[in-house]
Amino acid sequence: MTFPLLTDQVTQTLRAQGGRMTAQRRLILDVLQASDSHPTAEELYALARQSDPSLNLSTVYRTLNWLEERGFVSPRRFDDNHAHKHFDPVQPDGGHVHHFHCRKCDRVIEFSAPQVELLLEQIRGEIARQHGLRVDDAALVLSGLCMDCVAKS
Ligand SMILES: [Zn+2]
Repeated sequence: MTFPLLTDQVTQTLRAQGGRMTAQRRLILDVLQASDSHPTAEELYALARQSDPSLNLSTVYRTLNWLEERGFVSPRRFDDNHAHKHFDPVQPDGGHVHHFHCRKCDRVIEFSAPQVELLLEQIRGEIARQHGLRVDDAALVLSGLCMDCVAKS
C-alpha cells in the first residue's frame, strides 16, 4: 500500500534540505499512514520491524521528531497520566478527525461529525473574542470505555 500525498510532500521537503528519503523513513511513514490506531513511537517501531528487522527505535524517534517539527505528523496525548505520544499523519485536506480514547485498553477510535465542526467553529470564535487568541486548530477527544471493555466490565 502506498500513500503518495504525504510521502511526496515529505520527499520534497527532504530534498529541498539536502536530505533523502531512505527506505526506513519511507517504511515509518507508510506504517504510520496505514495504521488507524494512532500508534505511539514504540508501537510504530514494533509494526515497522516486521518489514525491516534492522530498524532501531532511535531511528523511529528521530524520524518522528523530524516529521513533527515540520508539521507532517501531529502528536496527541490522550491521557495526562499516559506519558506516550500517539502520532497521526496530518490530514492533507485539512478536515478534522475527532477521537475517542478508551481509558482501559488505550484503544483510539476516530470519528467525524458535521455538528461537532459547527460547534467547534462557534467555540473557537467565542474564545478568540473573549481572550484575544488566534485559534488555529480544534479537535475533540472523548474518553471512556470502548464496546469491548464495556462488554467485559
Ligand atoms: Zn477498551
